[in-house]
Amino acid sequence: MNLEELKALTAYEILETRDLSDISATGVLLRHRKSGAKVALVSNEDDNKVFSISFRTPPKDSTGVAHILEHSTLCGSRAFPVKDPFVELVKGSLNTFLNAITYPDKTVYPIASCNDKDFQNLMHVYLDAVFYPNVYRNESIFRQEGWHYEFDDEGNLQVNGVVYNEMKGALSAPDDILDREIMNSLYPDMCYGVESGGDPEVIPELTYEQFLEFHRTYYHPVNSYIYLYGDMDMAEKLRFMDEEYLSAFDRIEVDSEIPLQKPFTETARVHRDCPLGEGEDPEENTFLSVNFCLPAHQNKKFYLAMRVLDYALMSAPGAVLKRTLVESGIAKDVYSSYDRLLRQPAYSIVGKGTTLDREEEFLRLVRETLESAVEKGLDEEMLMAAINHFEFQYREADFGSTPRGLMYGLDLMVSWLYADEEAFALTQLGECFGELREDVKSGAFSRMIRELFLQNPHKSIVTVSPRAGVEEEREARYKERMKRIRESMSEAELVGIRKTLEDLRAFQETPDAKEDLEKLPQLLREDLKKEARPFYNEERSMGDTKVLFHELDTHGIGYLRLVFDLGRIPAKDLKYVGLLKLLLAMVDTDSHDYDHLNTALDLVTGGYTFGVSTYPVVAEAGAFKLTFEVRSKYLEGKLPEMMALTREILFTSHLEDAVRIREILEEEKSEMQATMFSAGHHVAMHRAYAALSQEARADEEVSGLEFYRFLSGLLSAYEERKEEMSTHLREVLHQIFRPENLMVDFIGSGKALEELLPEAQCLKDMLFTDATETGEPILPLLPKGEGLMNSGQVQFVCRAGSFRKRGLPYTGHLMALKNYLNYQYLWVNVRVVGGAYGCMSGFGRSGIGYLLSYRDPKLSETVKIYEEAPKALAEFDADERGMTQLIIGAVSDLDVPMNPASLGSRSFSAHMSGITYEETQKNRDELLSTQPEDMRGLAKYLEAILSDQCLAAVGNAAKLQSESALFERLENLM
Ligand SMILES: [Zn+2]
Repeated sequence: MNLEELKALTAYEILETRDLSDISATGVLLRHRKSGAKVALVSNEDDNKVFSISFRTPPKDSTGVAHILEHSTLCGSRAFPVKDPFVELVKGSLNTFLNAITYPDKTVYPIASCNDKDFQNLMHVYLDAVFYPNVYRNESIFRQEGWHYEFDDEGNLQVNGVVYNEMKGALSAPDDILDREIMNSLYPDMCYGVESGGDPEVIPELTYEQFLEFHRTYYHPVNSYIYLYGDMDMAEKLRFMDEEYLSAFDRIEVDSEIPLQKPFTETARVHRDCPLGEGEDPEENTFLSVNFCLPAHQNKKFYLAMRVLDYALMSAPGAVLKRTLVESGIAKDVYSSYDRLLRQPAYSIVGKGTTLDREEEFLRLVRETLESAVEKGLDEEMLMAAINHFEFQYREADFGSTPRGLMYGLDLMVSWLYADEEAFALTQLGECFGELREDVKSGAFSRMIRELFLQNPHKSIVTVSPRAGVEEEREARYKERMKRIRESMSEAELVGIRKTLEDLRAFQETPDAKEDLEKLPQLLREDLKKEARPFYNEERSMGDTKVLFHELDTHGIGYLRLVFDLGRIPAKDLKYVGLLKLLLAMVDTDSHDYDHLNTALDLVTGGYTFGVSTYPVVAEAGAFKLTFEVRSKYLEGKLPEMMALTREILFTSHLEDAVRIREILEEEKSEMQATMFSAGHHVAMHRAYAALSQEARADEEVSGLEFYRFLSGLLSAYEERKEEMSTHLREVLHQIFRPENLMVDFIGSGKALEELLPEAQCLKDMLFTDATETGEPILPLLPKGEGLMNSGQVQFVCRAGSFRKRGLPYTGHLMALKNYLNYQYLWVNVRVVGGAYGCMSGFGRSGIGYLLSYRDPKLSETVKIYEEAPKALAEFDADERGMTQLIIGAVSDLDVPMNPASLGSRSFSAHMSGITYEETQKNRDELLSTQPEDMRGLAKYLEAILSDQCLAAVGNAAKLQSESALFERLENLM
């Protein structure tokens, strides 16, 4: 970046430049003189460029106005007057990230791309969207994204709308209800005390005029925070923003300051009822929590110190407070949460799966344990392990598929939003790790416990417990309210509502004009890269053991995967394989307590996990590989210690420790409950797949709903079954960890591999060779057509089926089809018209495809939309631009930037499935060449999938019951 060139830009004033050596970048903070816009540049060589614009948007009530506006700005603007530019961009750009997010005090609009032209396009559309949205010209946008009245078949008044439905889904799980009450309880007098996403009971109070006023007030450059990251011509971007947007605005005063919540003198107390699912044990979703409001605006070390402290108190297996609470048996699951993205951050300690009458005991245990931690000091080794753990994470900076620059941008907001001059306060954390190690010795962590928790009067006690009828009462209240509103409406009002609805339908049904769509900038087919991404696989051997090596520059980190083939495991033992995966490294070994074992792991690795995976074998329909994997990442020098711990865990784990095992299983059960509730679409999809494929069926048994049911059964008769369990665990341990099952997979340097092999051989020599029972991991498929009921307010609806069974091979065109379904056919019908929050589809190389809805108010209507998909596809047509758009979006999925660890992992999966580079290239060629007739030709794929008649739905019990004819069987989810 050329600083002289920046200084020459008179439209901006440079406030600060800073060397950000940890991320090899230069940071510059500027202000746009005329409009007052705040700009932060982080310039380095990262190709994955990021732009974001954020606004401070503190809501005054729970109408969700900030959230509805976040959705609505992306529904067309002055220069790009199409209905859904966001979707057009998802479908037709090479973005590596594209989203908009509403937080309790800000709204963030980020984009990222590795392609220069594409980056500029995305930035342009986003700037236009936030400053000149079409919301002023078209009320239908507000009605669609926010809320509107409509009439059901019987003529009853109903509320519908995208955000309205999204929040119905977001606020129905007991865990979400707790989170929300915690926020409200700690900040009753300011914006964190209301629901920024919108409370479905309050959303309909928002008027169109209030909505517009919110935009007028807060979406001004002076209230904005603009961020540019990566390898680009920063001066050119600044000039563009100034000329096209910022210079049109004069600086004004905007009162958007986030006030401080006045400290409490007395602890706040809140209790809330949540819905009780049919057949559900009320205890399972009863929560006790104690929550603390932490001081505002600390230095950067505090931000890391909090994570270290949390690790030692609550997050690490065996963390002192967690351990005390778990061992007391007061709750089945114990966890903490630390929300740092608030002006005054919040910290919570939660017990789940308990009873309300144990509140006093819970609070006493928390207090006594914290007091004793202050007195005796925390375990120094554990604090050191935590510091190592976070330092490894910080240096590795692996955020999966999320662009690094985006994460840094969000870090900036932690200080910038509350202090204009402090954009870079939280960068350069590297220097803090040394100081933290000093702090361990000086007792700083004990002082933190005293000040932040024990002597902190700003806290709340929030409890949540299920009660039968809560959901019914809510529904009755809603119906009653609708009835009352309907009756009080004058004829003129009714006419008004019908008119609004007609306008909305017309808006939704009228396609965008071709010339408007063409205003959106888009790449051409020629701009797309032709070559598929290579695989990095090199096959070696260690005696009769296969070694798969991925030579990549990992900066001194080794990524090791010890892969054990489960192809000879008898089907009846799969559940115990699932159990074993949970227990290893979580129970004591001969040399370590489980807490010290984890401390030791964190001192020598940057992550150590066990997993069970499946891989389809593409050459043979229905064939698959099932593996048990021991995965670790470590600094090369730590190899011997890491392998010693691995041997210790595999060969000396205390699988007879029934007391400890019960704690682990109770916690797992509770966590699975929470995930199955919020991720109902995963459950629906896995259930549908398990009715079609042995691979998915095995997966269900090891980690799905089948496994959950096994776990529940085991825990409910634990005393009688614990011995049999331990015997079984011992058996599967011997069935899995055998030399003939082993394969070694490694990502790193050649030298590191050479050092690894003798260590791996030593482990191999110790593996079990005794006679064990063998079999095949093949189970009867699940029945098709399953409805799974819960107490939620929405549905997740999945149809799946096999095209391969009907003789149709996998082709690259299917990637364009997925893009068409997700952002065109299903998007319009299931999301925009149907009101579901999301919709998705996918087609795998195993030959199975699916259609799926997410937080869907509908059920049979959605199934009907699925069934009409082949017909719509048979009539598909698009011009070159439209066709290319579908291809670009698919290419962008294929080319998502990957770090060395993901490149190696991708290569490993391809190897396991037998996918060759030639095939991958062929599929890419097919995708790039897709024409409308190819798309129409895919209608038979959809027909094939639907002809399997395989439906699985998760959702509201009353809704599923009222449409029970859809299902072969109807059961409670949990
Ligand atoms: Zn939303």
